[in-house]
Amino acid sequence: MKNSVTGNTQHLVILTGAGVSAESGIATFRDALTGLWENYDAETLASEFGFRADPALVWGWYEWRRNRVLRAQPNPAHYAISQLEKKLPKLTLITQNVDDLHERAGSLKVSHLHGSLNKPRCLTCDESYAFPDEVLPNATSDRESRIDPPRCDLCDGLIRPGVVWFGEQLPANAWKSAEDACRDCDLMLVIGTSGVVRPVADLPYLADKKGASLVQINPIISGLNGVANFNLAGKAGEVLPELYAAAFPNT
Ligand code: NAD
Ligand code: ZN
Repeated sequence: MKNSVTGNTQHLVILTGAGVSAESGIATFRDALTGLWENYDAETLASEFGFRADPALVWGWYEWRRNRVLRAQPNPAHYAISQLEKKLPKLTLITQNVDDLHERAGSLKVSHLHGSLNKPRCLTCDESYAFPDEVLPNATSDRESRIDPPRCDLCDGLIRPGVVWFGEQLPANAWKSAEDACRDCDLMLVIGTSGVVRPVADLPYLADKKGASLVQINPIISGLNGVANFNLAGKAGEVLPELYAAAFPNT
């Protein structure tokens, strides 16, 4: 029997997807097919080609998303994960999410494999761009508001969102560390991901191959049901605090 959920875990890897932020009111990619992405295809909103074709449409859409995240709060799943980090000898947190709810719940080191809404950069020279702290994005309730992207201080190029778009490579260092962590861990929790967006969906298979236990938390069947040793069917914000309480009673 492989290592159990509450066993003597030395290195826990947690991989999260959009589902971990669902209870904070941030739509998952699948939910969003009837909302977020409803009127445009992914190529239009989430590729360099789409951005170059209509920068104001794409920047405005990301500002709308960033604004939604700014108004959202971490949920009990994010907090349970940051608590686990304090209890275990080693925890590696890997996320596909572009929001910052893990950080705001207190997680100290978060590897964002798909980038971050808060880290825009110049399309031309790659210089990073800092959003003005005190100002909320202009986009309010309208997810189709057009907003011209800011310009780079160095070269006057367009500032682009800091997310990984279709057709782009994942950040090389973060990806290598994620692979190394999956090869090294004895337990992996996969939370709120459909397990179909590659190459991230390959990570649980890597951990499984190396002998780690795999536990999935998801209310519905995902692409990972076959490989997981345990499928905990439920919402992350309910299951994770229960798991934490079972593993660390009296804390
Ligand atoms: P996905 O939308 O493909 O899948 C979400 C999964 O979460 C589904 O399997 C669903 O059953 C599950 N889920 C829904 N509610 C849940 C809950 N309360 N608790 C646990 N699980 C729940 O998301 P994905 O696999 O992360 O891939 C989609 C892509 O979209 C990623 O690349 C990601 O970067 C991007 N995205 C990110 C955000 C975000 O940053 N919050 C939001 C939407 C999309
Ligand atoms: Zn520049």
